[in-house]
Amino acid sequence: MFGKVKKSKSRLVNVNEMIQKAIEGKYAIAHINTNNLEWTTAILEAAQETNSPVIIGVSEGAAKYQNGFKNVFDMVNNTMEYLNITVPVALHLDHGSYEGAKKALEAGFSSVMFDGSHYELNENLAKTKEIVELAKKYNASVEAEVGTIGGEEDGVVGQGEVADPNECKMIADLNVSILAAGIGNIHGLYPKNWKGLDFKVLAEIKDTIPSTGLVLHGGTGIPSNQIKKAISLGVVKINVNTECQIAFAQATRKYIQDKKDLDEKKKGFDPRKLLKPGKEAIKDMVIEKMKLFGSLGKA
Ligand SMILES: [Zn+2]
Repeated sequence: MFGKVKKSKSRLVNVNEMIQKAIEGKYAIAHINTNNLEWTTAILEAAQETNSPVIIGVSEGAAKYQNGFKNVFDMVNNTMEYLNITVPVALHLDHGSYEGAKKALEAGFSSVMFDGSHYELNENLAKTKEIVELAKKYNASVEAEVGTIGGEEDGVVGQGEVADPNECKMIADLNVSILAAGIGNIHGLYPKNWKGLDFKVLAEIKDTIPSTGLVLHGGTGIPSNQIKKAISLGVVKINVNTECQIAFAQATRKYIQDKKDLDEKKKGFDPRKLLKPGKEAIKDMVIEKMKLFGSLGKA
């Protein structure tokens, strides 16, 4: 009989231990979204070199771009093996739908965000509860969202949404590991008239649900002093996406503007050379964020 090849073991962890350690140590873990092989390698190398725990985030759109959740899981897991990554790494679905969260868990993701913020509160609660039950079977962790987080994609300009601490408690009581609650933060780039984070609400939420990991979405463009204050008030996970995209684009633009891709002698058109400055720029950005968030050496 021909035997089936056994699937290699997952090297990923859920976020529970890293989040609890971060709550005790008052630092935040970087959630960095990945888009492809260069991103994944840059994030993993940055985490390993700085001995930081890390959460690799993938949106459903980015998973589709990378040919599906299974492919993303395999790429992260295999890259960890190949590069000898020993720091704790969680692979986390970012802003997952109900169906998407199920599929990501099936594919081996160690953590999922179920974003039920566009449902009525009761439906958000019911669906979040189902995802929490399902995730338990996989020993995976769950992030939920209450209220909504503002952003350009929602047509919101100006101040981001601010969550209701009572609603936060209702969702946290479902045993979610992480909660996304709006405190004036916004996805994408911040408008000039942005009023800043609402620290009063953040402190209230933290008081109400002290053992749930609070996450700050839309980390790009929040001034460093506000990031540090948010961490001191209990934020333990910060999502970074746009900044890495800009860093990658800028470095790639420079390579091409310097006409290095036209250097036939050096084969500057080779994708391994063409994409390298962008990859290094992502890595530098991730390390800068980990430094700011205080997670260096916390693996
Ligand atoms: Zn988000």
